[in-house]
Amino acid sequence: MSAPKLHVLVVEDEPAQREVLVYNLESEGFAVDKAATGDEALALVDEATPDLILLDWMLPGVSGIEICRQLKMRPATRNVPVIMMSARTEAVDRVRGLETGADDYVVKPYSVVELMARIRTQLRRTRPAAIGERLEFGDITLDAETHKVYRDGKELKLGPTEFRLLSTFMEKPGRVFSRDQLLDRIWGRDIYVDTRTVDVHIGRLRKALLRYGGEDPLRTVRGTGYALG
Ligand code: CA
Repeated sequence: MSAPKLHVLVVEDEPAQREVLVYNLESEGFAVDKAATGDEALALVDEATPDLILLDWMLPGVSGIEICRQLKMRPATRNVPVIMMSARTEAVDRVRGLETGADDYVVKPYSVVELMARIRTQLRRTRPAAIGERLEFGDITLDAETHKVYRDGKELKLGPTEFRLLSTFMEKPGRVFSRDQLLDRIWGRDIYVDTRTVDVHIGRLRKALLRYGGEDPLRTVRGTGYALG
């Protein structure tokens, strides 16, 4: 089982520009959803929350600015980074782009290398483990690049699923993840797995984390899900 890919939603009405983006993002290992209009984009994010959104400013119908505003108002997408793309270069537009809550802004024609770097900058903030950062929580260290986990300096042996669960928790300590959210993140959205499977793997993760003693860092939130700390 390979790790579920990070999802990027591309919202661009020009088919040629859209396909260039899709091609480059897929080459970088992202899973890509695409939309040609704002309404299409909003319908897609209702189905599944992407990890990042590339949003064209000039769209037919509802503008990219308005879509950005709406995305930043919805609880499900408020924290999803939005990078706006626009052919406009005036400084005033740049400011307006950021006032809508966009996390970054690129001017067309942009360099693909620069755009990818900006995408990674955003994801380093929101999905650090997923892009290979080293994370720490109390005496637990997770190295996403080498796939190793240490507690109090001792290496812990984790299965791939347990590793991914711990990565998800360590990206957002304290946040309560529902079983459905964990299924989505760990197993991917297209695979049917029973929610009880989550409990089984949480049990294994807990056991691995307590291998050399210490306190149980995982919290079971009754009727809701699980959290770290
Ligand atoms: Ca356009």
